[in-house]
Order: sequence, then structure tokens, then C-alpha cells
Amino acid sequence: MSSRPDIRHEQSLRALNTFGIDAKAASYLRVTGIDDLRAVRHDPALASMRRLVLGGGSNLLLTGDFDGLVLHMVNLGIAVTAEDEDHVFVTAQAGENWHRFVQWTIDHGVPGLENLSLIPGSVGASPIQNIGAYGSEMAEHFHSLQAFDVDTGEMLSLTKQECAFGYRDSVFKHGLRARAVIVAVTFALPKRWQPNLRYAELAAEIDARGIQSPTAKDISEAVIAIRTRKLPDPAKIGNAGSFFKNPVVSAEQRNALLAQHPALVSYPQADGSYKLAAGWLIDQCGWKGKSLGAAGVHEKQALVLVNRGGASGAEILQLAKTIRDDVHASFGVLLEPEPVLV
Ligand SMILES: Cc1cc2nc3c(=O)[nH]c(=O)nc-3n(C[C@H](O)[C@H](O)[C@H](O)COP(=O)(O)OP(=O)(O)OC[C@H]3O[C@@H](n4cnc5c(N)ncnc54)[C@H](O)[C@@H]3O)c2cc1C
Repeated sequence: MSSRPDIRHEQSLRALNTFGIDAKAASYLRVTGIDDLRAVRHDPALASMRRLVLGGGSNLLLTGDFDGLVLHMVNLGIAVTAEDEDHVFVTAQAGENWHRFVQWTIDHGVPGLENLSLIPGSVGASPIQNIGAYGSEMAEHFHSLQAFDVDTGEMLSLTKQECAFGYRDSVFKHGLRARAVIVAVTFALPKRWQPNLRYAELAAEIDARGIQSPTAKDISEAVIAIRTRKLPDPAKIGNAGSFFKNPVVSAEQRNALLAQHPALVSYPQADGSYKLAAGWLIDQCGWKGKSLGAAGVHEKQALVLVNRGGASGAEILQLAKTIRDDVHASFGVLLEPEPVLV
């Protein structure tokens, strides 16, 4: 028999989202393991509530109070679970902090995730949008994950293929949305590790440090240094990192835009399409450093929306909509938000 879950009511979420939005959850549970999820499912009142799975709160915008049940993943644990000729398999529980996990892998001699150092949030959320940065994506070293299916009460074990990872995308944003609670993630880390310096800015940082043969620790430190210089620290100013995805357009549309805007920043994709730099588009519309009330656009990064102090989620959303409309009017390109709107 599972015990009654320890539900808190009218819980403030202010310290639990990196935008620092002052919103409340009608009901809130700290999930320390699968038993808590089973207990929720067996309680008819809880099972019928709207649900929000919460990790580090660094990729969502709370647009108001949440009238349902917040399942805050705080289950911990990291272990080497297997190995084969080519890989070491490491499993981390969903509630582990992503950056601390990356540091653990480096400290334990199982590198591969170092390019993703200092990304905020939890291990459990990392597959949701297939986090990526500095020439790497989580999917490259992902092996499988365990999730609790809230609809059926069963545990799911999903392979990389079943997760259908794409650019900031996975099955958890589509078919398994609001259904699968990720409980643990297993990574396959290469035994014959090679540094990944595909990202020019990272290669330049390693060069500037006079390092010839970088270790995973060197790469992690370089990534941390670049990120610290470029991105606002949520502990100092509320934000959720990039607020918009880089839009992907056809070669035809990109060429037409390039003819009108010779400085357009675009990156060719394997399928012949182009990714446009959303930050550049926003900057061209004059939004960098601007504000609407307490919601603002960061001074250095036009892609990052910030809470200048006491902004509501609705204010941030209004700013995002205004920017989206301006970019659409100027370039005919529709920006999509990267964080989940709650
Ligand atoms: C300063 C800053 C920089 C950032 N830089 C990057 C970057 O370089 N690259 C990048 O990809 N992202 C970046 N992000 C976004 C963010 O860090 C990632 O998306 C991260 O994976 C979110 O983790 P989280 O635990 O905070 O998720 P949350 O914000 O808590 O949740 C995000 C979504 O995932 C769902 N979710 C969370 N945990 C689970 C779970 N266990 N099971 C099922 N669903 C779950 C939530 O319901 C929600 O829909 C940045 C954010 C900030 C604030």
C-alpha cells in the first residue's frame, strides 16, 4: 500500500522558476520516487487534477497561478550501471541538477557531456527539448530513459529512437506530452573520447587559453567561461535562457531574405533548409535592451527575455507576442517560444 502523498496547498512557485514569476500552485508534491507518482494515481482527487511536472523551472513561463497539481521532481542518484566494449552507461535520476551531473561524469572519468556544462535545470527535463549548446546535443550521448505513464500507471522504458529527438524537440512535446513523467535517464558515454570543438567560439576559447590537447575538464571550463560572459545569471536577473527557437526556413525564403538583408545570419541544415538566428531578427527590430513594463529584452542577448523585477508571466508573454509580431511584420518569419507556456 502506498502512503498518502504529502500535498502542500497554495504553494508559492516564485523560487522554483528561473524567471522568478510570483505564481502559486493549488497543490504541490515533492516527488522523491516512483511511489509518490503511484500514490497520486491511486488518489481519485489528485489523479483527476491538471498536472505540471517541474524540474528546475528554467524552461517555462508561468503565465498565472497554476490551478492543478505540481509534481516537483527531486529524486536523486547517479551511478555507472553497465559497460560494453565502447561505452560506459551512466544513469541519473530525474531530480539531479544537470550541471552537477555533467561535473560528476567528468570527475569520474566518463566524459562526453562537457559541451553541455552549465545548462540550468534537471536531468529529467534534458530529453524534453533535447538540450543543446556549443556544438552538441544531449541526444548524441543518450541511451534510454525510464518514465512513469500517468495514464496507465506503468513504467515505460524508451530508447533513443522512441524519443524521436529533433532540434529542441522530442516525443515528450507531442505523443507523450503530459503523460510521461521521466524518472531516470541513462547515457552511453564513449570509452574512446574525442574533444568536440566544432563550435568555432569554443575552439577559439581553448586556443586563447593556450591549450593544445584539451581534456573534458578544459572544455567544460571553457564552456562555463563563455556562458558566464554571455548569458544573464537567473540568480541575478530572472530569465529562461533563449526565449525563442531559431526559425528554420526553406532555402528559397532564406535567399529572398538575404537579397533584402545582406547581413542576415543563417546556418545551412543537412536537409537543405536554413536556420535563422532569431536573436539577429529581434535585434534588427530594435528590441535589444528595451522593456515593456517590468518585462525586458536583455542588453547583450536579444534572444533572452528578462524579468526586470516583479514582472508577471502575463507581462513577459505580452512582450514576447509584441516581439513575435514585429519580427513577422519585418521578415515574414514567425518565431516560436522555446520555454513551455503554463
Ligand atoms: C540562463 C539559461 C540558459 C539556458 N541555456 C540553454 C542551452 O544552452 N540549451 C538548452 O537546450 N536549454 C537552455 N536553457 C533552457 C533550460 O535550461 C533547459 O531546457 C532545461 O533542460 C530545463 O530543465 P528544467 O529542469 O529547469 O525544466 P523545467 O523548466 O522545470 O520544465 C521544462 C519542461 O519539461 C517538463 N519536465 C521537466 N521535468 C520533467 C520530467 N522529469 N518528466 C517529464 N517532463 C518534465 C516540464 O513539465 C516542462 O514542460 C537555458 C535556461 C536558462 C535559464
